[in-house]
Amino acid sequence: MAERFTGSFTQQEPIPEEAIAAAVAVMRHGRLHRYNTVADEVAEVALLEQDFAAFTGARYCLAVASGGYALGCALRALGVGPGDAVLTNAFTLAPVPGAIASLGARPVFVGMTEDLVIDLDHLAARIAQTGARVLMLSHMRGHICDMDALMAICDGAGVRVIEDCAHTMGAAWAGVPSGRHGAMACYSTQTYKHLNSGEGGLIVSDDSAAMARAVLLSGSYMLYDRHLAGPDPAAFAGLTGEIPNVSGRMDNLRAAILRPQLRALPARVARWTTLYRRVEAGLTDLPGLSLISRPQAEAFVGSSFQFLLPDWPAARIQDVLARCAARGVELKWFGAAAPAGFTSRYAHWHYAAPDPLPRTDRVLAGLIDMRLPLTFSPEDCTVIARILRQEITRG
Ligand SMILES: *Cc1c(COP(=O)(O)O)cnc(C)c1O
Repeated sequence: MAERFTGSFTQQEPIPEEAIAAAVAVMRHGRLHRYNTVADEVAEVALLEQDFAAFTGARYCLAVASGGYALGCALRALGVGPGDAVLTNAFTLAPVPGAIASLGARPVFVGMTEDLVIDLDHLAARIAQTGARVLMLSHMRGHICDMDALMAICDGAGVRVIEDCAHTMGAAWAGVPSGRHGAMACYSTQTYKHLNSGEGGLIVSDDSAAMARAVLLSGSYMLYDRHLAGPDPAAFAGLTGEIPNVSGRMDNLRAAILRPQLRALPARVARWTTLYRRVEAGLTDLPGLSLISRPQAEAFVGSSFQFLLPDWPAARIQDVLARCAARGVELKWFGAAAPAGFTSRYAHWHYAAPDPLPRTDRVLAGLIDMRLPLTFSPEDCTVIARILRQEITRG
């Protein structure tokens, strides 16, 4: 009988005991709201912001309700408004154009390369064509483009960059932590990302004016001086009546379970690298399959694995997917006609009236995606790669 994999592609690790104890302490005192503190108490949310600012090297950090909220908040903080064109990756997750649309702004998609990163030539063309002032750069599935080249294009054209680091928390480009190139960066602590609080988001920036707006937007009322990683009170002068309260704070319960997880993140990243490299090694030199090259400058987090079946007919890809699923290996495909589960692509986002992008379509038509939760062992990854290899060879 053919070998079968029995692990779950959606099973995360348990919350660490230290984090559970911190959460229980918050529940015992009952002060879950970030501004509900006594005497000299510092809220868990403020401490998390301080921890995450230190982790990334950013001057400021703000914790919010979700990664998607963080993206919308950053756009507003940089002054994006209704009708504005905002550039973003054609290859990204639905909440990214969704955050742009939530402001009444207009997502304009930039194509991708076979390395699964933004196409820099197309970016330059789109800037010239639209006059957009903001790029929301999504490091989708942890693939980081040449950030020095990207920033040269954007700085040269006066385009401000918001980085979507939902898949690059803990990653770096040429030694610079992901999220430290643009004007602002947004992270997610949703269950399927690199830290798990169910839902949650973080914003970092060195820009005191933008960050003061973000803090007010998040729903700080006049309590912004309780932020340990926020701008000085002077940065808020004249803003309080001007910036709407678009409530989306993080609470102390989530922050309490995130702080111990953040301390453990570098060790988790190392484990992800082992899993990723194990799958990759099992798929090398397989005719019909292209691995995604990972540049030397990119320190990535291998929380998911992608490969291409370039120019395969859709029916053959569907066949491979079905046979892998029958053997317990759950794959996602960016080329499906209709959105399925969490997976959709730019052409499905009709509200944004996307132009067709032929090169991107060709890449997406062969793009296969697989989660690598940390509940998998390296041996599991060897089994998964063996099953993939057999089924792809059978074509
Ligand atoms: C998950 C995700 C988001 C949004 O994060 P949420 O916390 O789920 O709102 C944004 N961008 C990408 C690429 C994501 O995967």
